[in-house]
Amino acid sequence: QAKLAGKNRYHIFDAALDLNIRNHHESLERIRHALVNDEFVLYYQPKVNMRTGVVTGAEALIRWQHPELGLVPPADFLSIIEDHPLAVELGEWVIKAALSQMSDWHDVGLDITVSVNISARQLQQSDFVERLTALMLAYPQMTPGCIELEILETSALEDMLHVTQVIETCQKIGFKFALDDFGTGYSSLTYLKHLPANMLKIDQSFVRGMLDNPDDVAILDGVLGLAKAFRRQVIAEGVETIAHGAMLLQLGCDLAQGYAIARPMPAIDFHVWSTTWRPDIAWQDLHVLSRD
Ligand code: C2E
Ligand code: MG
Ligand code: MG
Ligand code: MG
Repeated sequence: QAKLAGKNRYHIFDAALDLNIRNHHESLERIRHALVNDEFVLYYQPKVNMRTGVVTGAEALIRWQHPELGLVPPADFLSIIEDHPLAVELGEWVIKAALSQMSDWHDVGLDITVSVNISARQLQQSDFVERLTALMLAYPQMTPGCIELEILETSALEDMLHVTQVIETCQKIGFKFALDDFGTGYSSLTYLKHLPANMLKIDQSFVRGMLDNPDDVAILDGVLGLAKAFRRQVIAEGVETIAHGAMLLQLGCDLAQGYAIARPMPAIDFHVWSTTWRPDIAWQDLHVLSRD
């Protein structure tokens, strides 16, 4: 009896496993097809200095414009390809698409720094620098200084010395770096110490809780202090309300990105937004609150 049950269980497990593998394979094929079919798009979300109102840049965020499913968020497809060479291919598409967009904006008088997310895996490719500089060659009017690379999942970085060298080489060329989701994952402080990133991007989980959780305020305060000591800039992500922004300003964090400013939007909308953004009016409340 028991043996039979065990055997049945094994068969069920086996079938499920098989189905999983097949689904995974199919998903990969769909994504590969989407890349060839040009179904990916970049949305852009502004970053502003809340104290001055100046727009300091935009983060490019990938979406899949699926013919049937509509707009698919990155969380739904990036995990499928994370351990696959396709992730590197898609990562390169993102940099290329951002450069192409920046170049179009440049032609109509909008010069803006764009931040692009890169996975630890992408950054650790042996030819990362060569590929990046090769992409730049296609856009001679753009300078590396217009690009910031936001490093994701720093805890997946394996060879710290190699990565440090890659960052330094890129910085010499003019590229800037940020440590994304800073404060989450293990040993953030080790990465702060070793990786010469220009910017720390405080994870939105700390920002979300700051209005009613003193622990989050303590963490924000601590990160801001560390950033100052290490001479890094800091930006807060996930700034959803004016109240969050006001408190961040009081803590000494001027740079912000979040729904309180604007949601990620298609490139065309971003252009319109940037011409209508009136920092003097939109952030009046914040300016008053921060003047003490
Ligand atoms: P991330 O790089 O930390 O990006 C910030 C995420 O927070 C974005 O989600 C953005 O839409 C969202 N967000 C911005 N402001 C607010 C806010 O005020 N409140 C809330 N609740 N959320 C806010 P999104 O676009 O869904 O991207 C999720 C993650 O997917 C990104 O997190 C990043 O890890 C990854 N990702 C996005 N685009 C790319 C890409 O081109 N390449 C790679 N490798 N990863 C990407
Ligand atoms: Mg990011
Ligand atoms: Mg982030
Ligand atoms: Mg995040």
